[in-house]
Amino acid sequence: MAQNIPELYGSLVFNDKIMRSKLPKDMYKALKKTIQNETHLELDVANSVAVAMKEWAIENGATHYTHWFQPMTNVTAEKHDSFISPTGDGQVIMDFSGKELVKGEPDASSFPSGGLRATFEARGYTAWDPTSPAFIKDGTLYIPTAFCSYSGEALDKKTPLLRSMETLNREAVHMLHLLGNKDVKHVTTTVGPEQEYFLVDKELYNQRKDLIFCGRTLIGAPAPKGQEMEDHYFGALKPRISAYMHELDEELWKLGIPAKTKHNEVAPAQHELAPVFDTTNVAVDHNQLTMEIMKKVADKHGLVCLLHEKPFEGINGSGKHNNWSMITDGGCNLLDPGKTPAENTQFLVFLTAVIKAVDNYADLLRISVASPGNDHRLGANEAPPAIVSIFLGDELTEILKAIENDKYFNGQNAIQMDIGAKVLPHFVKDNTDRNRTSPFAFTGNKFEFRMLGSAASVANPNIVLNTAVAQSLREFSQQLENVAPEDMETAVHKLLKNTISEHKRIIFNGNGYTDEWVEEAEKRGLYNLKTTPDALPMFTSEKNVALLTEHKIFTKGELHSRYEIWLENYAKTINIESNTMAEMVQKDVLPCMITYMEQVANTARLKKAVVADISIASEAALLKKLTELQDAMTEAIQTLKKDTSKAQSYDDILESSKAYQATVLADMESLRKAADEAEALLPETLLPYPTYDKLLFSI
Ligand code: ADP
Ligand code: MG
Repeated sequence: MAQNIPELYGSLVFNDKIMRSKLPKDMYKALKKTIQNETHLELDVANSVAVAMKEWAIENGATHYTHWFQPMTNVTAEKHDSFISPTGDGQVIMDFSGKELVKGEPDASSFPSGGLRATFEARGYTAWDPTSPAFIKDGTLYIPTAFCSYSGEALDKKTPLLRSMETLNREAVHMLHLLGNKDVKHVTTTVGPEQEYFLVDKELYNQRKDLIFCGRTLIGAPAPKGQEMEDHYFGALKPRISAYMHELDEELWKLGIPAKTKHNEVAPAQHELAPVFDTTNVAVDHNQLTMEIMKKVADKHGLVCLLHEKPFEGINGSGKHNNWSMITDGGCNLLDPGKTPAENTQFLVFLTAVIKAVDNYADLLRISVASPGNDHRLGANEAPPAIVSIFLGDELTEILKAIENDKYFNGQNAIQMDIGAKVLPHFVKDNTDRNRTSPFAFTGNKFEFRMLGSAASVANPNIVLNTAVAQSLREFSQQLENVAPEDMETAVHKLLKNTISEHKRIIFNGNGYTDEWVEEAEKRGLYNLKTTPDALPMFTSEKNVALLTEHKIFTKGELHSRYEIWLENYAKTINIESNTMAEMVQKDVLPCMITYMEQVANTARLKKAVVADISIASEAALLKKLTELQDAMTEAIQTLKKDTSKAQSYDDILESSKAYQATVLADMESLRKAADEAEALLPETLLPYPTYDKLLFSI
């Protein structure tokens, strides 16, 4: 059924249009002011908004409301309260107050807090984030909130994200004012996350314990065909996938999520969805919702949406590209090169601020995307390596070189020198050569951070990015403070020159997938933090603690709690995988092998009974091979179990994580090798779980 898309779009969102029509004029104005300037919200305004929200929600079929928040798990959390309020005469009215809108008190005690709750008062509360619009889902009004402890410690991802946006705003506005751009009042960061995912048939999914418990396959021989033909990328959508994507788009549009681009990805059964970019906190909320709706709509279509970073061995994993930029309240994209020398200056200052930020805090950026799932992907020749570097393209790199060496760059067509601007070259927009192997690429008017895993919230990388860039800008400002206007250009030039010279090691335009780059990066002194346990200890290094506490993103306590939560999550995830794998091999693969060996032995015996001198060489060879593999698996399971118990037994969470990484993952690999070899020999009819062929090619 054809729908009126503009009418459908945002129909379940308490958006500006609804607010304008539902709120008294003065209240609407006061709310807008709060949203735009992040000023404090008065209770009378909150009450007025609550009434309007409730009315609108009830008109649209809602009976409940929930404070929606993002604890330190990978999913969102909600606790539903109904609007009903008993009137004492056996009746109810539908009620919702400003207080209920602004603050909620979910019981926080069962969310991960990494020891914070032991140190501080256990109670947590949620606080409305009026800059991210409320919406209706499944008959409930959802109010986006931040989640804190009563002593003010952040228990979620939203609180530090909002703090990081605020520090970047402050530093960027200050810098713009120093550069003479005095009209700017507010700078916000923008994010457009491209989301990859796999779709598999639900019936097949339900037959695999590894997919159910771990979201990825732990065993599975490769299908005869993989992604080598490259015939899936941008290929025509199959009807079932197309129907899914249509409904997904509509559901997202209703929630005001501007889903824009969809296509098949490189791997079979893999797809991508990209929205139009938005303010960072809204984009983060929308990406969480997108992942949730992807799963929900899949279920309706008899499919399961896999968001794991590496669901299938030997097939590309799924990531998320975090397109990021900064925009002023006047609508100026600060990473857009611009047309005038003044705009160029501004662009170059913000560009080098990002370069400096990424070089200084490459370890933090790596940490911000660290997860057991993403460890399988980074550096696996399909995704950027674990080494953070920046791709700028040849032209922009030449311009920076020219600035560093006090030479004018005389490039072809794309770049012209503007001698009038004395020291700063004037160039038109780079035509952006594409380098898919770079983890952090400049793509014309934004940066694209490509190390993110598909399953995780995009909050963490943006917290780091915002804060690190804010720090660069702060240091820049200190150098430009008190410079007379007539000396500003020279001062800026000096600043750019020094920054480029100091941080150019992070710039790399070559192929990031090669071994030569790994060597070269080491020579340059860049980090190569391969696994989560390698990376996480850097989170609490002096420089990183200084950054995050000075910008008031995290207190020391919050930092340590996060470090603990991430490592705990790492250890627990691998522990579940180890248990699942042992069980699958023991209960699915080995019994199936025994049945098959019995059949083979019987065949040999029967053959002999009929024809005494018949050859049973094939049966004998097969039985021998299967027995070898059976023994190998039996032994590998014992080793896996032993090493898993040992890894689990360490009191120190870092030691435990390292043991999981070094021993348990390696054991799983050995066990998998034998199991996959066995699977390739077993008849499909005996296998109790569907193979890669079916999972990847049946839709
Ligand atoms: P591709 O990377 O596939 O070529 P685009 O460059 O058009 O596609 O955009 C990819 C994503 O980047 C989209 O989600 C888009 O909205 C987002 N994007 C574009 N401009 C910006 C910006 N200034 N800030 C943040 N994201 C942006
Ligand atoms: Mg892209």
